[in-house]
Amino acid sequence: MSSENIYDIVIIGSGLGGLACGSILSQRGYKVCILEQHFQIGGCLQDFKRKGKLFDTGMHYIGSYEDGQILNTLFRYFNIYDKVGVSKLASEGFDILQVNGKEFAIPQGVEAFRSKLLNQFPEEEKAINAYFDKILEIYQSVDIVNLRNIVNFDFAAKKGEGENVYEFVASLTDILDLRNILCYSNSLYAGEKESASLFIHAIINVFYLQSAWNLVKGGGQIADAFKQVIEANGGQIITKARVTKLVCKNDMLEAIHVEGREPVKGKQVISNIEPLTTMQMIEGANIRKAYMSRLRNQDQTISCFSYYGILKERTIKYSNANFYYYKNKEVWGLDDYDESDWPQGYMLYMKESQDHKGYAESFTVLSPMDYNEMEPWFDTYIERRGDDYIKMKHDKSERVLTVLEDKFPDIRSCIESSYASTPLTFRDYTGVRGGAMYGVKTDSRNPIASQVLPRTRVKNLFLTGQNINMHGILGVSIGAVITCGEIVGINEIIDELRTFKQETM
Ligand SMILES: Cc1cc2nc3c(=O)[nH]c(=O)nc-3n(C[C@H](O)[C@H](O)[C@H](O)COP(=O)(O)OP(=O)(O)OC[C@H]3O[C@@H](n4cnc5c(N)ncnc54)[C@H](O)[C@@H]3O)c2cc1C
Repeated sequence: MSSENIYDIVIIGSGLGGLACGSILSQRGYKVCILEQHFQIGGCLQDFKRKGKLFDTGMHYIGSYEDGQILNTLFRYFNIYDKVGVSKLASEGFDILQVNGKEFAIPQGVEAFRSKLLNQFPEEEKAINAYFDKILEIYQSVDIVNLRNIVNFDFAAKKGEGENVYEFVASLTDILDLRNILCYSNSLYAGEKESASLFIHAIINVFYLQSAWNLVKGGGQIADAFKQVIEANGGQIITKARVTKLVCKNDMLEAIHVEGREPVKGKQVISNIEPLTTMQMIEGANIRKAYMSRLRNQDQTISCFSYYGILKERTIKYSNANFYYYKNKEVWGLDDYDESDWPQGYMLYMKESQDHKGYAESFTVLSPMDYNEMEPWFDTYIERRGDDYIKMKHDKSERVLTVLEDKFPDIRSCIESSYASTPLTFRDYTGVRGGAMYGVKTDSRNPIASQVLPRTRVKNLFLTGQNINMHGILGVSIGAVITCGEIVGINEIIDELRTFKQETM
C-alpha cells in the first residue's frame, strides 16, 4: 500500500457523526480521511433543490443553540458555529400540535412551558411539576451534556432509560389533553407507546424547550461547514468511495477496501455506518457470535414517507413553527396502522419565501411509514424502481393531501408542484437498514439490547453515529465526542469543550 493511502484516522461515512469526528480529530493535528459512498456528503444532513427551492431530507430543526447552551458549545468546538445560519422559531409556539380536535402551541423555555400548562390545567399542578422535575433531573444527570468530567464512565447507566414515557405520564394525570401535550414529541424519537424510553424523551424535550431553531439554509450547510474545517486542517473527504471490506490481522484493521479504488489504511478507523453492516464487512477477526446476533436482533425505528410541496406565490401564510397532526385521540400510534388507514398523522414545516415575506414558498410533510410496505421494490435502486413505484408514490401523496385538508382546506389548489420520498429513499441514501428514521429502537423494557459501545473487538476500529449514544443533532454530536474520547481521552475533550462555552449575562 502506498504511503499516500495511509492516514492517522480513516472515517467510513460522512454523516453527522463521521464529520463531527473528522472535525475534532483533524483540528488536533491527525491526518484524517473520510470515505463516503455517495457523490454528496452528509447522510441525513443532505438537502436538495427543486425549481430553485431548498428541501431538507433528514435535519431541519435544532435545539439548545443559545449562547451557553450545549449545541452552541459543541458547534463552536467543532469550529462550525460561524458557518451555520439559523433563525429562532416562534417563542410563543415553536411546535404546534393538533390532536383530539384541539390545538396547543409549545412555547420556548422550560419554565414558559410549565407556566402555560399550570395556567391551562391549574388542578393538575402536582402532576405538571412532577413531570418537569423528572425530565430536568434526567437531563441534568448526563455528565457530558452538562460538561462535567467523567469518573468511572458507565456508558450503560442512563437515568430513566428503563422507564416508559407513556406509563410515567399516565401515572401522573388522567387528563387526556395534558397527557397528549406532555407526550407529543414522541415523533422526534419514533417512540412507541409500549416501549418509549423516558431517558430519550427527557433529553429531547429539554433540548428543544431550552431554545428551538430552524436551519435557514438547510441541513446541508452543516455538512459543508464541517467539510471546510476538515479540509482547512489538512483532512480529505473522498466521495463515491464505497467501503466494501475491512481486512484484519491480529485483531487490528489492516486494510479498508473501497469499490473501484486502491485500499486505504488508517492507524485508527472510525465507522459512521451501522454497527451491524460494519461488522459484516470484517474479514480476518473473530467477532463473537453473541455480539453479531445481538446486533442482528436489534429492532429498527420506523421509516418515513416525505412529501415536498412547492407553493404558488402568496397562497399560504408562513408559520414559524412545526406542526404536528394526529388523526386519532392520542399522540401515540402513528407507527401502528392499517395500510388502508395511512397516514395516522404527520409533522409539517414550511420555508418562508424571500420574495414575499410572510408567505411560505414550500413545505415538507413527514409521516411514519412501515418499511415492509416497500416489499415489491426491495431489490430496486434510486431512479430505477419502475412505473408501479411511481404510481404508489402518487397514491400515497394523495392520501397525505387528504389528511392535510383538515388543517389546510385549500391546500391542493395552492400547490404548484410536488415530490415524494419513501423508506427506500432513506435506505439507499444513508445505507440505514429498513430506512429507519432514527436507527436502532430503544426499548424501555430492555434498554441494554439497543446499546452499542464505540469500542470494538478490533483494537483500532471504533463506532460512531446515531446507533452509538443517541440519534439527532445532539445525540450524534455527543456520540462523536464519546468516540473521539476513546482515542484522545474523554475528559481532555470535555475540559476543552468547557472553554468553548459562552458565558451568558
Ligand atoms: C426524516 C428525518 C428527519 C429528521 N429530522 C431531524 C431534525 O430536525 N433534527 C435532528 O436533530 N435530527 C433529525 N433527524 C435525525 C438525524 O438526521 C440523524 O440522527 C443523524 O443525522 C444521523 O447521523 P449519522 O452520523 O448516524 O449518519 P447518517 O446520516 O446515517 O450517515 C451515514 C453516512 O454513511 C454513508 N455510508 C453508508 N455506507 C457506506 C459505505 N459502505 N461506504 C462509505 N459510506 C457509507 C452514507 O452514505 C451516509 O452518508 C431526522 C432524521 C430523519 C430520517
